[in-house]
Amino acid sequence: MLGKGTKLYSILRLKCPRCHEGDFYKGSPFKFSTMGRVKENCLECNLKYNIEPSFFQGSYYVTYGLGVALFITVWVLQLIFFPNIGPGTLLISILVALLVFSPILYALSKTIWINVFVKYEASILKKKTSNEK
Ligand SMILES: [Zn+2]
Repeated sequence: MLGKGTKLYSILRLKCPRCHEGDFYKGSPFKFSTMGRVKENCLECNLKYNIEPSFFQGSYYVTYGLGVALFITVWVLQLIFFPNIGPGTLLISILVALLVFSPILYALSKTIWINVFVKYEASILKKKTSNEK
């Protein structure tokens, strides 16, 4: 399921959606200076990540969806394991979870967004290496 060639591989490993080899981000999603900063091109297959101006604005909708999914997950977990906790504690725990996971939600949203538009091409690196010879 998470093998190379699947969209989940590219999304979860934050790799190039076309070759699944090159890194998508300039650094770690948890490092504040590089948080959410996408590289210009893939270093392996030379795919331009910013397909058009403001391309990644659409990923904000994905971030919203991931945030709602996290909200529901925390809520359900709290209902299962701590059913007697009041709404104030629930609200604080949801806010803490959103704060802690927001860098990874932000990073995942951009890789999910570009994976909607770019397909995996297994032969792209073979073409590149054969052109270099
Ligand atoms: Zn690539």
